[in-house]
Order: sequence, then structure tokens, then C-alpha cells
Amino acid sequence: LVEGNYEQGEVVRIAERVQQKFSLPFDLNGHVIYSSASIGILHASDQHLTAEEMMRDADTAMYQAKRAGKARHEVFDEQMHLAAKETLQLETDLRRAVENGEIYAMYQPIFSLTTGEILGIEALTRWMHPTLGKIAPARFINIAEEIGTIDALGEYILERTCREIGPILTAMSPEHDLTLSVNLSCRQFGQPKLAENVMRILETTHFPANRLKLEITESIFFEYQTKAIEMLNQIREFGIEIDIDDFGTGYSNLGYLIRLPVSTLKIDRSFVSPIDAEGRNTEIVKTVLALARNLGLKTVAEGIETEHQLRALKE
Ligand code: MG
Ligand code: MG
Repeated sequence: LVEGNYEQGEVVRIAERVQQKFSLPFDLNGHVIYSSASIGILHASDQHLTAEEMMRDADTAMYQAKRAGKARHEVFDEQMHLAAKETLQLETDLRRAVENGEIYAMYQPIFSLTTGEILGIEALTRWMHPTLGKIAPARFINIAEEIGTIDALGEYILERTCREIGPILTAMSPEHDLTLSVNLSCRQFGQPKLAENVMRILETTHFPANRLKLEITESIFFEYQTKAIEMLNQIREFGIEIDIDDFGTGYSNLGYLIRLPVSTLKIDRSFVSPIDAEGRNTEIVKTVLALARNLGLKTVAEGIETEHQLRALKE
């Protein structure tokens, strides 16, 4: 608490002094400890009359500082309050979204660039909110990860898509070996029974394991290391393929590629979108293709939306 008349800039300088102190290591029973502090600052005003209100908003600013990368300080503003309120509402609604039937899948085709034939489909999770309408996955997946409902949500979407697509696979003639790709959140690997649960879903839905592909992102290796390798090997043994989604946007250490049982690299759309009418900006795509070829992996390009992108990628 900074009491009395103070100049607003002074508070920021105090925060910086606190952080400066934290940047020095300290001794704890002979161990050298490093720490840091994320600081939320609230300027006193007539809008904050109780200690609870002050703590709440200082807290909001502190979480903002943490999200911005930790060891930072943020000053609370009204915009933060509105954003925090909105997120809180979404959190509450998301807890009931599955049972209310608001979560569903849309399917995106995966084509062969050689034959034009559909090789598979990717299930994309969508949330139709009863009053706010469609909420983008970029918004609600993060929330589900934060409030810990991602396991239930991920398993629900896997089960639902297996049920929806299973009968289509059965109805198709056997020479079409269409696959279903389902995205897994990295956080789901924090759940020790993940592999077991995936297997149970395949059994109850009678979905063939060799037609399922699970998409994971590079960050999984960064977060779970050897545990992730074990779990992925277990999943791979069921006959399920593992694809790396959004390849090239996450973890920059490529060493994981030879340690994970991966079959496909999905080239992130941020490398496909810049390909222009003259076929320029294909350097990263070319590099990923060469990398995949050398590792004996397949490739899928995400988000091909124009003729010239299609042409450049075919080439
Ligand atoms: Mg995906
Ligand atoms: Mg993607």
C-alpha cells in the first residue's frame, strides 16, 4: 500500500524496485534460490470502496502480468475488469456446455494433392453459445485448459466424432481408407489415463484404431518430455497415428521428431497463407517438406485457400 499523495509514476518505480530485489538469488538453508514477482497495481479511486473490490482488481492486473510473461507489473484499468468478467462468464458457461449439447464438431477435408481424392477429415471443435453465438476455439480451448475441463471436453469430442464418422467408414467401400483426425490438447497429457481412455472410446464406439489420427502440437514435448513419449508410444501401439499440428510455430528444438512416434507433419497455415500469386514465399514450406522427406514423414498443408497456393504446393 502506498499511502498519501503520490505521483502515479512513483508506484511503477516501486514495483520495479521490488522486481529488482527479486532478480537477485537468495539463500535458503544453503540452497541458491531464484524467484520472481508478478505485480498487479491498482490506483485508489472512488470506484473501489471495499478491501475486497481492491484485492479483486489488483488480482486481475496481477494475472494479466503473469499472462504477459511473468515477472512484470501491470496497472489495472476498466478494460481489464470487463475482460475478466467476460472470461468468468465463459468459464461458468463452458462447464455446462457439453451437457447442454452446445459443443459439436465440424469436419474439414484433407485432400491428396496428387489425385484430388479426400484422404481424411479433421474434426474441428465448435461451441455454439446460447446467447453469444459461435465462440472461436482459440478463445474457449484456452479457458477449458485453465479451468481443467479440457480432459472431459477432449474426450467428449473424440467420442462424438467416432460415433458420427464410424458409420460413414463402414458404409464406404473398403478401398477408401478414409481417416479421422482429432486434435488433442497438450494438457490432456497431464491426465495419466489418457491412452486408456482413448482405447475405451474406440471400443465403445467400435471405431477402428487404424483409421484414427490424433493431432498434437510440438509444445507437448516441451511440457511433458519422457512422459509424453511413453504415452504416445502406448497410443501408437493401438494402431493410432500421431500427427504434429501447426508444425514450425512452437518448440524450436527439433530433436523430439526422432524420439516421438510421429507419422505426419502438418505445415501450419501461417506458412501457407503468405504464398502469393507469383508463387513466392514458399521457402519455409520447402524446408519442412525436405525435413519430412528425410525423416520419412508424411506432410499435410493447412489452410490452402487459393488456386495459386494449391498450384505452388503441388509443385
Ligand atoms: Mg488440427
Ligand atoms: Mg492447425
